[in-house]
Amino acid sequence: KGERLRLPPWLKTEIPMGKNYNKLKTTLRNLNLHTVCEEARCPNIGECWGGGEYATATATIMLMGDTCTRGCRFCSVKTARNPPPLDANEPYNTAKAIAEWGLDYVVLTSVDRDDVPDGGAEHIAKTVSCLKGRKVRDPRANFDQSLCVLKHVKKVQPDIITKTSIMLGLGETDEQVHATMKALRAADVDCLTLGQYMQPTKRHLKVEEYVTPEKFKYWEKVGNELGFHYTASGPLVRSSYKAGEFFLKNLVA
Ligand code: SF4
Ligand code: SF4
Repeated sequence: KGERLRLPPWLKTEIPMGKNYNKLKTTLRNLNLHTVCEEARCPNIGECWGGGEYATATATIMLMGDTCTRGCRFCSVKTARNPPPLDANEPYNTAKAIAEWGLDYVVLTSVDRDDVPDGGAEHIAKTVSCLKGRKVRDPRANFDQSLCVLKHVKKVQPDIITKTSIMLGLGETDEQVHATMKALRAADVDCLTLGQYMQPTKRHLKVEEYVTPEKFKYWEKVGNELGFHYTASGPLVRSSYKAGEFFLKNLVA
């Protein structure tokens, strides 16, 4: 009595190892993410995580930390009445990990957080929106906020020249670029630069497209037509690209 039953052979699984397994694990640890696979000691972990290339690997990310406020008796997830506060970077890091692995399909689950007033609803909504397209910037920064700053500057000091930049090659559509440019002009932005996004390290978002120099020229034309004082658009154009030249040409003259 009280002794644990021996595991039958059909439930014995391989000890997880291998390249993919280790890579997934490294990303997860670096981004402070957790999975139900590990926390619930799922026996499939070797198979799910090890599966071929990343595209076929599966992992179930467990949101809102690794500690649950409930304590179901069948569950090996850690429990506490007052777990550490939610990690504000988790929504972004989740999107980042998934983008890096190149997974088309992902399962998200979470612990229960009865200690958080909305049960974590906002945190989960943020994660979904990061995954669905706002995954590029840190969630603490967003387009509306940037636009507000640019508008505000013009309001309080109309003669200040405002400038902003758009990175291309992150999977955006022409319509989105167009709409963004229009919104910037409507906010009275004076100068615009458009450049190619380059993946700084393997841990950063992948380049979705290398936009051709011709296409950059096209955006420059659009910028001029929309009425920006200055539009610099090219694969190697960066935010402060030729800022000095621009300054001399447009401000000193
Ligand atoms: Fe287990 Fe599901 Fe994780 Fe596979 S994805 S290891 S089945 S928890
Ligand atoms: Fe485990 Fe879910 Fe129960 Fe929390 S609520 S203890 S994660 S089964």
